[in-house]
Amino acid sequence: MRAIQVYEVGGPEVLQEVDVDQPQPGPGQAVVEVAASGVNFLDVYHREGRYTLPLPFTPGTEGAGTVVQVGPDVADVAVGDRVGWVEIPGTYAERAVVDSTRLVPLPDDIGFETAAAVLLQGMTAHYLVKDAYPVQSGDTVLVHAAAGGVGLLLTQLITHLGGRVIGTTSTTAKAELAKRAGAAEVILYSAVDDLAAEVRRLNGGQGLPVVFDGVGAHTFDASLASLRTRGHLVLFGAASGAVPPFDPIRLAHGGSLTLIRPSLGDFIADRSELLQRATDVFEWVRSKALEVTVTARYPLAEAARAHSDLEARRTTGKLLVVPDA
Ligand code: NDP
Repeated sequence: MRAIQVYEVGGPEVLQEVDVDQPQPGPGQAVVEVAASGVNFLDVYHREGRYTLPLPFTPGTEGAGTVVQVGPDVADVAVGDRVGWVEIPGTYAERAVVDSTRLVPLPDDIGFETAAAVLLQGMTAHYLVKDAYPVQSGDTVLVHAAAGGVGLLLTQLITHLGGRVIGTTSTTAKAELAKRAGAAEVILYSAVDDLAAEVRRLNGGQGLPVVFDGVGAHTFDASLASLRTRGHLVLFGAASGAVPPFDPIRLAHGGSLTLIRPSLGDFIADRSELLQRATDVFEWVRSKALEVTVTARYPLAEAARAHSDLEARRTTGKLLVVPDA
């Protein structure tokens, strides 16, 4: 079968399309024919070696497709089932082997592309607004990269929960998208000298109860400075690079702030929690509380272009790698 393999970490060019043996399921595993694979910034971290995986590996952490084979001791799914999953790594391929306990059965009205587009980023937005910081109606919330994959979903969910979103983006086109997703205000990073001062100005001179920051190095200081006393910084990513080590006394000086650096895996580790979050996300899609925007589909052979586009900030919403595209 065709698959992307990474033999050495590096730039997008290390994503090579090659022929590999058909995968075989071990105990508790299923083989899924991949209909679509979600592209996530996490895949860039794996490819660059920022998060290490044993080499060689097939990247991709989110997929949807049909079960074509099961190994011994599989109780959760059967051949022919439509499923989606979030699991490291291996979805940029025609087939993937997945631990059957990580497979989420897809309802009939959830298509493969929707599932591959929303499972990882949707469940991330879910735990961020429900668990990392439970957003309350009336909260004003800063969301960085509000036109990105997670950003657009977060913006919609916070708005759905009665929150008011101040977003950040790099371009006016992205700002328009964030506004269409519900953002009340959008700040172009490049248009302001002092991002935190602008956030406060847009909030009647007050700091915010919470900031959701997936950008990291470039926004971290402004995120802290945007918070009110006892505010919460939810630092969930590092698209611009890792935040350098910092002195926790800054949290005290900022007004007894809290900082959480959460990871999706810890919020879906238990199968019942995984299924509950997925069910909620599908329900939000059904009710249109969440609109999933697939903005580009790349064939396997062009997975490198998907990464280049994502890293160069040329993309909005969700990108998919589609084996048959
Ligand atoms: P996005 O589609 O949001 O792409 C990243 C966006 O970050 C860009 O579009 C860009 O938006 C912004 N950005 C700012 N600075 C840079 C930079 N120097 N280089 C590249 N992009 C930059 O990606 P995802 O939705 O896949 O992921 C968003 C973040 O969420 C990532 O940090 C990811 O690691 C994190 N994440 C964390 C999870 C968790 O559980 N902790 C789970 C899932 C994702 P703009 O041009 O508008 O600034």
